[in-house]
Amino acid sequence: NHHTRKRLVMGNWKMHGSLAANAALLDGLAAGAMRAGETQLAVCVPFPYLAQAQAALAGTPISWGAQDVSVHTQGAYTGEVAPAMLADFGVTWALCGHSERRALHGESSDLVAAKAASALAAGLTPVVCVGETLADRDADQVERVIGEQLAPVLALGAEALARLVIAYEPVWAIGTGRTATPEQAQAVHAFIRAALAQHGAGQTRILYGGSVKAANAASLFAQPDIDGALVGGASLVADEFLNIAAAV
Ligand code: PGA
Repeated sequence: NHHTRKRLVMGNWKMHGSLAANAALLDGLAAGAMRAGETQLAVCVPFPYLAQAQAALAGTPISWGAQDVSVHTQGAYTGEVAPAMLADFGVTWALCGHSERRALHGESSDLVAAKAASALAAGLTPVVCVGETLADRDADQVERVIGEQLAPVLALGAEALARLVIAYEPVWAIGTGRTATPEQAQAVHAFIRAALAQHGAGQTRILYGGSVKAANAASLFAQPDIDGALVGGASLVADEFLNIAAAV
């Protein structure tokens, strides 16, 4: 049952922010972190702002993460960021395979799994994102698509799976204001849970993402296999993000 898994509410700022805007947002989050209660809070910021997040959040209950990570550890990989570099900035989390990277940067499920392994090797916690398009859903292909995205991640084995987080983010719900219903989300979360359990990792946390806001968070969190949220747009407003974290 999901009360044994610590709830996690993670912001994904995407390519938003500036030093000035981030300072206000981070201060607001730090000041209100108590409102999250037992819920774990995190923000995934653009690479250049990791140092700023570290300075603002060190000593608070809020952890910080990156939105991508390289499969390589060092070398001639212009533009890539190694997991050890993220660790240097106190990073806990690395998003792997967000749908925007899959769609806009051609990331394959094999590459995404390799990124998760790369993050784990440096002591980071990968947050592996999966999700179907509306066309997939309309064609009744949700479980096939999610299954294919998960397969190389499941192949990492039970020990790796116990150390990572999965985020289910239906592409049609991201940034559209159209959230999956709690029942739609739960059905996919249960499918993912079963796949994880078959690979010895039934207690791995599974977050839902896609137009999560304070008004719909509680009904999502009430589902037995939803262990928290990955929040885009609503994570850019401290009060709204904290209201999501405080939802019961
Ligand atoms: P959204 O984004 O909350 O703005 O829909 C979620 C995500 O892409 O992680």
